[in-house]
Amino acid sequence: MGEKLTFEQEERGMKIGFIGLGNMGAPMAANLAAAGHTVVGFDTMDVSVEGVTRAATAAEAAAVADVVITMLPNGDILRSVASEVIPAMKSGAALLDCSTVDVESARAVAAEAEAAGLLPLDAPVSGGIGGASAGTLTFMVGGSEKAYATALPLFDIMGQKSVHCGASGNGQAAKICNNMILGVTMIATCEAFALADKLGLDRQAMFDVVSTSSGYSWSMNAYCPAPGVGPQSPADNNYTPGFAAELMLKDLRLSQQAAEASDADTPLGQSATELYARFVEAEDGRGRDFSAMLPRFEARKRNG
Ligand code: NAD
Repeated sequence: MGEKLTFEQEERGMKIGFIGLGNMGAPMAANLAAAGHTVVGFDTMDVSVEGVTRAATAAEAAAVADVVITMLPNGDILRSVASEVIPAMKSGAALLDCSTVDVESARAVAAEAEAAGLLPLDAPVSGGIGGASAGTLTFMVGGSEKAYATALPLFDIMGQKSVHCGASGNGQAAKICNNMILGVTMIATCEAFALADKLGLDRQAMFDVVSTSSGYSWSMNAYCPAPGVGPQSPADNNYTPGFAAELMLKDLRLSQQAAEASDADTPLGQSATELYARFVEAEDGRGRDFSAMLPRFEARKRNG
């Protein structure tokens, strides 16, 4: 760090305002700075990120930026940060939100940004903290073609894949639909393992059959919840996350909020939300990987 930029780096370098330098935002901002972009960051907590200059306010971080990136906890905070940065931004700049938030907040912020002559994008990620550090995130993107083209070089630095899913809000829609499938399939995989245990079926045999049969899924094949079976996963590390159960609960609640708002019937999504809520809020799920549903089922009988 601190090295002089080459002429080429200066040529391609963008000015980026990065707001929300937490577990995900900090490594994403560091990767952009390491790639030669000028990154000015802001967080309400006192954090320092290699290569990133700190601003005193979100508006200051946004003022000269070609692209403002937000990586924040939820939709209410996004709305409040957006109302502060949008008036400060240069006309024609892009506002790229990478947080996971409700579809309504994403669309409301996009409408406000568009009215101010900005290029809004919602681009939630999958890949977790490991993917943020390694620059291997997947971005699911909603917004105009023009906005997507502006942000594409940044997606290529922070991630390994981006999918343009259509208009504003569609990135968030893709994310919560994917994670609703993930929550449901993880529960189904865990309860099937617990049933197999009671039936006297060896877990390795269960894995060998299901992972090559019609019950296969990412939860079984790539992230097997049974320790010592299948590829390395958080189950092999005492269910240290990985993807924490409370983050799964957040995404499932967003899926149910969206289902309510759009009048969609999602009975399994609803059940998965209720189960993860109980696991996180009334049992020992908080701080454990979301695949720790397996020891939960293992310890229970049919009626509790
Ligand atoms: P985090 O809590 O570590 O980071 C959020 C940061 O935002 C914090 O540093 C906080 O101080 C800051 N912040 C809060 N209010 C602010 C404000 N008004 N102005 C400026 N900064 C403010 O959370 P995270 O794990 O980095 O997650 C960020 C987003 O990414 C969330 O929406 C989360 O759902 C999503 N996400 C997280 C993961 C993961 O594995 N952690 C994976 C995919 C998506």
